[in-house]
Amino acid sequence: MPSHTLIPFPPELLAAKKQIREQARSYGLDFYETIFEMCDYEQMNQIAAYGGFPQRYPHWRWGMEYERLRKQHFYGLGRIYEMVINNDPCYAYLQESNPLVDQKLVIAHVYAHCDFFKNNLWFSQTNRKMMDEMANHSTRVRKHIEKHGYDTVERWLDVCISLEDQIDPYSVFMKRQPTRHDPPDRSSEPENSRFQAKDYMDRWINPPDAIEAETKKRREQAERSRKAFPVRPTRDVLLFLLENARLEDWQADCLSIIREEAYYYAPQGMTKVMNEGWATYWHSKLMTTHFLESAEVIDYADHHSGTVHMPPGGFNPYKIGVELFRDIEDRWNKGRFGADYELADRLGEKQKWDKGLGLGREKIFEVRRLYNDVMFIDEFMTDEFIEKNRYYHYGRDPHTGQLRIVSRDPKRIRQSLLYRLTNLGRPFIYVVDGNYNNRGELYLAHQHNGLDIEIKYAIETLKNLWKIWQRPCHLQARIDDEMMLFSFDGNQAKQQTIRDDTPKPAHEIV
Ligand SMILES: [Zn+2]
Repeated sequence: MPSHTLIPFPPELLAAKKQIREQARSYGLDFYETIFEMCDYEQMNQIAAYGGFPQRYPHWRWGMEYERLRKQHFYGLGRIYEMVINNDPCYAYLQESNPLVDQKLVIAHVYAHCDFFKNNLWFSQTNRKMMDEMANHSTRVRKHIEKHGYDTVERWLDVCISLEDQIDPYSVFMKRQPTRHDPPDRSSEPENSRFQAKDYMDRWINPPDAIEAETKKRREQAERSRKAFPVRPTRDVLLFLLENARLEDWQADCLSIIREEAYYYAPQGMTKVMNEGWATYWHSKLMTTHFLESAEVIDYADHHSGTVHMPPGGFNPYKIGVELFRDIEDRWNKGRFGADYELADRLGEKQKWDKGLGLGREKIFEVRRLYNDVMFIDEFMTDEFIEKNRYYHYGRDPHTGQLRIVSRDPKRIRQSLLYRLTNLGRPFIYVVDGNYNNRGELYLAHQHNGLDIEIKYAIETLKNLWKIWQRPCHLQARIDDEMMLFSFDGNQAKQQTIRDDTPKPAHEIV
């Protein structure tokens, strides 16, 4: 657990914080109360290793993270550390040894993040009392350890953590669907498609044999779908396991903790570009317009440029995000959107286009409220934007190993970015049958979105799933254009090509 003796704020910083907060509010930023804590370098690393929360469940992952951070030294705003927690109130941490100009930059940046947490739709379902909830998780896991021993609980947490990506971040906006059927309701038995006919015509229009065959087919179909379990393919694999695996109470509790924390972090992954872009936009605006003493300008420029530097072939969410917000603001100020603008002729008409609408500020606030990264890039990263900012698609030259431009085609550049952002490059996996072969086996399917799954990953996932499901587990995936089925039965992993005679799961995912 991180030690938490905090260092008091110097008065000049306290005054700067108040001014920045009021200035941010005057621009319309709207955040929860934000508590800044001052720590030394060592404390900063400790808190960061725990993801910014003073209390987490005991696990070796935090120690690993601490070592990683210590080696890496700094992350975030170039050479400045930033850490801010989505909670009401928000918590943020400042490193004591930073010069005042850096502290002001971080404070401005943090207020914008807090505004984003509070107002962006994708965060609306997150637990705003996560500080308490994390402490509660810590207490629960400690109780399980007391009863079942550290090693047993840790091994179980390892299994749960290896599957923590298997949730459905979009499902928080949907009504919860049961994964099992209710008992069959005979009154809803499907009717035949019987045509209206006069009595004497009836046997010609609706021949009895055809009706019987159709009835039989419909019955069979209804029977199959009545038995289908889950009712429909489900991406929230963890929920499916919680509801249907035979787990001891303490095991289910650990799994539900890992799932809940995964859902808490999911929106941060889905909005990294926007959230950093928004925070950079505002720290930059607040600093350059209001809070730089002339002596601080050089330091600021130096540190800020560290934030938005992007080497060729690199990916800097701060840079891409802030440039996009600025571009949206400029376009909506000038009215550069809509059918008229898109249809403008090529003779420099677009470059001169300025209707003086002044809608830029309003538009960027709307975007920060409604979008996530995939929608943001897809909609606002226009061809003109890509050309103006000289974004290229880079690849390594197979002969020299050097980076080189492989494409300047805006469509391809946008595509490769979207690829990277969709589910953060993680595979989409669905439970498609919880009673495969009628033997209680678990069948998952990988939805192919252009990238093959790694075979090693598939096997490891199955082994961990087996520890939860306790029956053979299968994962279907397309590898090199061939449909494969990977299986693990508790002893052996095997793989086979799916053929016509391979038994089908309850649902199909292509
Ligand atoms: Zn940030």
